[in-house]
Amino acid sequence: MNVKNCPRCNRIFIPQGGRRICPVCVREEEEKYEKVREYLREYPGATLLEVVNATGVDEDTILQYIKEGRIEASDFQDAAIECERCRTPISSGRLCAKCQGDLARELQQAAGSFRSQTPERDTKSRPRDKMFTADITDKFDK
Ligand SMILES: [Zn+2]
Ligand SMILES: [Zn+2]
Repeated sequence: MNVKNCPRCNRIFIPQGGRRICPVCVREEEEKYEKVREYLREYPGATLLEVVNATGVDEDTILQYIKEGRIEASDFQDAAIECERCRTPISSGRLCAKCQGDLARELQQAAGSFRSQTPERDTKSRPRDKMFTADITDKFDK
């Protein structure tokens, strides 16, 4: 049977459902998340520091929840995550609305230019050859 060492607590466990950490840690993680949620339900608009102090959950973990979209940054008074592209403060996810739009447009453009990339026909005749043939016809004309 496939066993793994939990990267968090080093317990040996059987990974189930693609879990990276052991069931004990999963439960702890869930409890942390629930604590943060509970606190925010009771004190909406708390500061990040208040939540950290009250729940014992570290700031990075809370910011991770926000990035994963499990908690809104707007639930906090001051928590802000930044757009990964332009560093604008956003409330959830990885990109601001503007960058999301920009990115979608860029993707569309990339797809569009790919489609219109039909092999360009050589409409310009090669000037060198033309001159050469012209020379010949000149000679023949005489
Ligand atoms: Zn563990
Ligand atoms: Zn942005």
